[in-house]
Amino acid sequence: KLASREFKKSNTVIKVSRGVEIGAKKIHVMAGPCAIESKELMFGTAKIVKDAGATILRGGAFKPRSSPYAFQGLGEKGLKYIEAAGEKFHMPTISEAMSVEQVELLSKYCDIIQIGARNIQNYDLLKAAGKQKKPVLLKRGMATTVKELLLSAEYILSQGNYNVMLCERGIRTFEDSTRFTMDLNAVPVLKKLTHLPIILDPSHGIGIREHVGTMAKACVAVGADGLILEVHPHPEEALSDGPQSLLPDQFAALMKELDLVAKAV
Ligand code: PEP
Ligand code: MN
Repeated sequence: KLASREFKKSNTVIKVSRGVEIGAKKIHVMAGPCAIESKELMFGTAKIVKDAGATILRGGAFKPRSSPYAFQGLGEKGLKYIEAAGEKFHMPTISEAMSVEQVELLSKYCDIIQIGARNIQNYDLLKAAGKQKKPVLLKRGMATTVKELLLSAEYILSQGNYNVMLCERGIRTFEDSTRFTMDLNAVPVLKKLTHLPIILDPSHGIGIREHVGTMAKACVAVGADGLILEVHPHPEEALSDGPQSLLPDQFAALMKELDLVAKAV
C-alpha cells in the first residue's frame, strides 16, 4: 500500500508554499478561528497567530455543523478573506472541503485542503482530493480505526496526490467529561505503519479551552509533525467552537512552551 513504510521507508516531507515543509524537522502550527466569520476576524486572528509564531493559517468557510440551524460558514466569500489574509501575513492557508465541488473551489483559494472527521469515508470526496495537486489534511473520523484512516488516505494517494497528512482529532469513547478522547496512542502506532506526516488537533480532541495547552504539549512530546489549533480573539462571541478556542495571550504563551517541549524531545 502507498501509505505504508514498506512502500516508502523515509518520512514524507510535504512542500506546501512560502517555504513551509511539513514532515521535516520543524513542528508547524496551523492556527486561526474555527470558522471564518468576517473579514475583520480573519485578518485580526491571522495577525495574532502569525505574531505568536504559527506558520499556517486555518479557518473554515464550509462548516460541518451538527445542527443545520447553526452557522454554516461564509462559503466562497470566506475563502476570499482567508486567501487575502494569507497573502498579507505570508502564511499558507488551510480550509475544509465538504463536497466534491468544494474541492475545486478550495484548491483555487487555499494551500491545504482539509477533509473533516465527518467525511473520512466519503470516498468520492477523497478521490476528488486525490485528483488535484494541493496537499490534503485528512482528519480521522470519531469512530474510525487506524487501519480505516490509512485506507482512506489510500483513496487520495492512489489518485496520484502523495501530499497527504493524517490528523488525529479525538475519537468517541464512553468518556463524556471531555468533547472527544484524544487518541495519542495512534501517533507511535501510525509512525511505525506510515511515512505520512501526522498532525494533531488538541482543540477538538479535548474541547475545553483551559486544557488545550496541556494536551498540545503532550502532542509535541508524542511526536507530532504539526498541530492545528483554534484561536479566537473573543471566544464567547464565536459562531463555532468558542469553548475550545484559545485566547490570543494563551496561544502566545503556549507557542513558547511548545518550543521548549520540542527542544526537549
Ligand atoms: C474543524 O477543524 O473545525 C472541524 C470541523 O474539525 P473535525 O472535522 O475534526 O470535527
Ligand atoms: Mn472547529
